[in-house]
Amino acid sequence: MASLTLATQNAHKVDELRRLLVPFGLSVAPLPPGIALPPEDGGSYSANALLKARAAALAVGGPVIADDSGVEAAALGGRPGVHSARYAGERASDEENLRKLIAEVPPGTALRYVCLLAYVGEHGERLFSGDCAGTMAPLPRGTGGFGYDPVFAPVQFPGSTMAELSGAQKDAISHRAGAVRAFARWYLDAGLG
Ligand code: IMP
Repeated sequence: MASLTLATQNAHKVDELRRLLVPFGLSVAPLPPGIALPPEDGGSYSANALLKARAAALAVGGPVIADDSGVEAAALGGRPGVHSARYAGERASDEENLRKLIAEVPPGTALRYVCLLAYVGEHGERLFSGDCAGTMAPLPRGTGGFGYDPVFAPVQFPGSTMAELSGAQKDAISHRAGAVRAFARWYLDAGLG
């Protein structure tokens, strides 16, 4: 059986996806060095996830999963959304993106994390989605997770930010967990695992 490759260069996503797949008995190989992923200019999470998964599947010659995700602020009409990784500029760091969100989004207003996971392989192309509702924390708190987690206060853990949760707590509620679980169930039901 061809091993599944994970098409991402984000080390935090690798950690989370690997952790989420363990209960299903699934493992993923990292993207081999030297394989460049295409620019994320698809305009939607699903288009971007498919762009990455298709390019990686061609390059590795086997099945691939790739995710595209973002945070949507109600106060900003859903931005930054699909542009979350580049919110403060093309090469912006997580810290710069976080600072921009803090400057623009009032505490207590609604946030939503969204994740689209694409599978591209011998069984065609499939998309799986997950989301997670929260609010903007009054101040950044916590050192876990990555990206916007220090200000994302999930509705399921009142008073905490995502960055204050353990990995297991984040995995119980996260947008990525929802998408990965939907994928894993399909993958195993299809007899691919
Ligand atoms: P992309 O999926 O590579 O386009 O990147 C998504 C961006 O959304 C990341 O760089 C983060 O800024 C943000 N993001 C996605 N998922 C999470 C999460 O679980 N925690 C914090 N930030 C996230």
